[in-house]
Amino acid sequence: MTRATPHAPDPVDDTLVGDLSESELLARFVPLLGSPAATLVGPGDDCAVLAAPDGRVVVSTDVLVEDVHFRHAWSSARDVGRRAAAQNLADAAAVGAVPTGLVVSLVLPGSLPARWVEDLARGLDDACRPWGAGVVGGDLAGGPLVVLAVTVLGDLEGRAPVLRSGARPGDVVAHAGVRGRSAAGYALLAAGRADDDAVPVDLRTLVLEAFRAPSPPVPAGRAAALAGATAMLDVSDGLLRDAGRIAAASGVQLALDDPADVLADELALLAPVAGALGADATDWVLTGGEDHGLLATFPQGVVLPDGFRAIGRVAQASDDAPRVTVGGVAAGAGGGWDHFGADRG
Ligand SMILES: [Mg+2]
Repeated sequence: MTRATPHAPDPVDDTLVGDLSESELLARFVPLLGSPAATLVGPGDDCAVLAAPDGRVVVSTDVLVEDVHFRHAWSSARDVGRRAAAQNLADAAAVGAVPTGLVVSLVLPGSLPARWVEDLARGLDDACRPWGAGVVGGDLAGGPLVVLAVTVLGDLEGRAPVLRSGARPGDVVAHAGVRGRSAAGYALLAAGRADDDAVPVDLRTLVLEAFRAPSPPVPAGRAAALAGATAMLDVSDGLLRDAGRIAAASGVQLALDDPADVLADELALLAPVAGALGADATDWVLTGGEDHGLLATFPQGVVLPDGFRAIGRVAQASDDAPRVTVGGVAAGAGGGWDHFGADRG
């Protein structure tokens, strides 16, 4: 007996997007999307209607462009859908909100297989469903390449939003989620070594998956807000660069501990990949982007919520002090850490 896998396209369905009307395409796409808990009116009318129990709506948007943010050769449609949703869900979590719904607008070439669009819907749903969120609306248009514009809506459940600007000297710096894995996966693909047995297959799979479809710790955002986080963001551009953003917005210094001490498990996990590529796992952990973990600051003495680990402390800023240090050494403003002292964030 053969088991259908979601990734395996139906070999007899060679319908192209250009063969279908908009309503025919929607009839394939929409049923693959779950209905989020906040939905009052779902797809089919001119607008969806979502509950906003808090009375305020959290909103953020991201665009993914074929060959800029993803490549068909490296990522399946399902990966692209999961990634597009994940990075938006992480943004809602990063202010301490619970994501409620996504609005997804797609530009699709007529030459694209319709089954690619169906798998994209499955990927969006994969990422949203665990958190009770889902796609509530969007738009379709034809165009020369695939573009996804994804907007997330979220609810603060009565809490104040956690901003980047609230870190205070004495606070603990903490991180939830994985570090450096997406960068390691990207490095394998970029080197053409995705199938290289020099790296154990389980580890290859793990880091490639982290690059293709990151899994942000969405509930950790709400948990951080409940625990009194003073500042937070999701790490999309690398730990050092995003730490610099909190430091700049808050007018403080973030003094990160040596990753060999506080992120030893992530470094150990990535070591075989780094070894095979002649790369530096510390560099991936400190500067690798797109893991979409959460970086937050908490008042001293707070019991960190599940998933968070302390990785440093907030210090007083001064004119001649760097914005971010690692193990007491200045990190560069560009998010690098090997250009010590070259720049002050
Ligand atoms: Mg963000």
